[in-house]
Amino acid sequence: MGVIRKTASPEVKAIIELVFIIFENGIRSVTTIIGFYLTIKFVKISKGRISKFRLISFASFSISFIFLYLILPFILRFTDFYVALMPFPWASLPFQAPITGAHLTVSLTKILDWNGVVITLWVFYIYQLIVLIGTIFLGRRWHCSMLCTFVGAHAEAFGEALPLIPHNKQRPRSKVIRPRIRTILFLFQILMIIICLALMVTWGIFFFTGAVTIPVRILINIERIKYLVFELYLMIFFMLFLGARSYCYYCPAGTLLGVIGRIVGQQITTGLTKCNSCGLCNDVCKMSIDIMNKAKTGEPVKTINCVGCGVCVETCPTGNLQFTTIFLTKYHSRKARSLLKTDCRQKT
Ligand code: SF4
Ligand code: SF4
Ligand code: SF4
Repeated sequence: MGVIRKTASPEVKAIIELVFIIFENGIRSVTTIIGFYLTIKFVKISKGRISKFRLISFASFSISFIFLYLILPFILRFTDFYVALMPFPWASLPFQAPITGAHLTVSLTKILDWNGVVITLWVFYIYQLIVLIGTIFLGRRWHCSMLCTFVGAHAEAFGEALPLIPHNKQRPRSKVIRPRIRTILFLFQILMIIICLALMVTWGIFFFTGAVTIPVRILINIERIKYLVFELYLMIFFMLFLGARSYCYYCPAGTLLGVIGRIVGQQITTGLTKCNSCGLCNDVCKMSIDIMNKAKTGEPVKTINCVGCGVCVETCPTGNLQFTTIFLTKYHSRKARSLLKTDCRQKT
C-alpha cells in the first residue's frame, strides 16, 4: 500500500485503496466467520464432537474481527489499524511509528496526525499487555487460538479443508507434515527470529540514539521483503500446500508465546482414560505433534509448538486428553472441590 500511495495517480490510488479496504477489512472478516460456521457443521456431520473451548475460540476470533477490523477502524477512521495488533517480536512498530517514511508508518503518519500515531502506539502497548497476561493464564492458546487474525483464525476456520493435496494417501485427513519439511520449517523459524530481533535492535538504536547502523532506506526495504516474502506470499503458499498452520511453525511471535507457555506449565495431559492407539489425535494436529506416543505411556505432551487449539482433545474418542496450564489446573481443581462440597451438603 505504501508503494501505491507514492506512485499512483490520486484516482487510481483511491480505487485501489477502496478495493484493498473492502477485501482486508470486510471480505476477509466475513469469509472467516462463515468458515467457523462451516467447520462446526462439517465436524458435526462427520460425527465429531465440537468442544466448548472450540466454540469459545471461534467466538473470540469472530469478536476480534468484528471489533478490530470493522468497528474500531470505522470509529477511528483508520483502516490500517491492524498494524498495531502484532505481538513482539513480530513488529518493530513502536520504533518505526514516529519515523516518516518507515515501512509501517508510511500508512500511519500520512493518514494520522501526531495524536493518531500516539493513540496507535498506545493500542500497540495495550495489546502486548493483553497478550502477555492472557498467555500467563492460558498459555499459547490465548493468542494463537483465540486472538490472532493473521493466521490463527484462518487456520481454525479453513484448516479442515487444507492442505489442498493430502500428505498421506492412507490417511487423507491427516495433517502430519513429513520430518524433512519440518526441519526446513524449523530452520525458517531460527532465521525469522534472527531477522526480527535484528530489525528491532536496528530500529531501536536509530530511534533512541539517531545512530544509523543500516541506512534507513535499506532497513525499510528489508522490512518490506521480510513481510512480503516470509510473512505473506510464502505463508499463503505453505498454507495451501503444507497445511493451515504451517506459518505457525516459524512465526517469531508464536515461538516467543510458546516459550512463555512452557514457563506457565502449558501441556496436553494424557492418561485420563485408556489410549487405544487409533492415531486420530496425531492426524488432526496441525502442528504435527506426536501426541499418541506420549498418550500410550500416559506422559504429558510438553512442547512450545502446541498452539492450544484443542482439536486433539475434542477428537480423542476415549476422552484421554486435556489441555492445561498451571492456572487452569488450579482453577479446575478448585471448581471440582466446590462441586464436591455442594454435593456433600445436598446429601446430608
Ligand atoms: S503462531 Fe503466529 S501466526 Fe500462528 S497463530 Fe500464533 S501468533 Fe498467529
Ligand atoms: S497438540 Fe492438540 S492442542 Fe496442541 S496444536 Fe496439536 S491439536 Fe492443537
Ligand atoms: S486419539 Fe485418543 S485414543 Fe486415539 S491415539 Fe490419540 S490419545 Fe490415544
